[in-house]
Amino acid sequence: MRWDDTDIGKEWAKTYHQKYYLKNKEKLLKQQKDRIDSDPDFKARKNYMDRKRDADAKKIIYDVLGGPKCIHCGYDKDIRALQLDHINGGGSKDRKSNRSTSKIVRRYKADLSQLKLIYQVLCANCNFIKKYENNET
Ligand SMILES: [Zn+2]
Repeated sequence: MRWDDTDIGKEWAKTYHQKYYLKNKEKLLKQQKDRIDSDPDFKARKNYMDRKRDADAKKIIYDVLGGPKCIHCGYDKDIRALQLDHINGGGSKDRKSNRSTSKIVRRYKADLSQLKLIYQVLCANCNFIKKYENNET
C-alpha cells in the first residue's frame, strides 16, 4: 500500500493541501481566473463535466434504489423526469449542505445500501404531489 493511501497519509496530505491552499489562495485563484479567461470553452466544458458527473452519480443511486422508475406510479419513460426524493422530507435542507448528487454518492460510498433508507425515486409529478400533500419545502 502506498503511504498516501493510509489513513495517516491521507490526513497528512489533506492538511498539507489545505495549508498550501490558504497560503497561496490569491495566486491559485488568479491562475484559475486566467485559465478561464484564456479559454472560452472552459466554462462550457466544466458545465458539461459537472452535468456528466451528476448523471453518473444519479445512475449509481438509481441502481441501488431499484432502477430508474417511479416507485409510486411506475413511470420510467424518461430519466430526466425522475427525481431523487427524501423519504422523510427535508430535501431543501439537505440540498443546501450537499448541493450535488455526486457528493451524495461520495458520502455514502462505504455503504451505498444506506441510500435505500433515505431516498426513493419518484417522477416529477408524484414528487410534487407528495411535497404538496406533506407540506414539504
Ligand atoms: Zn410517479
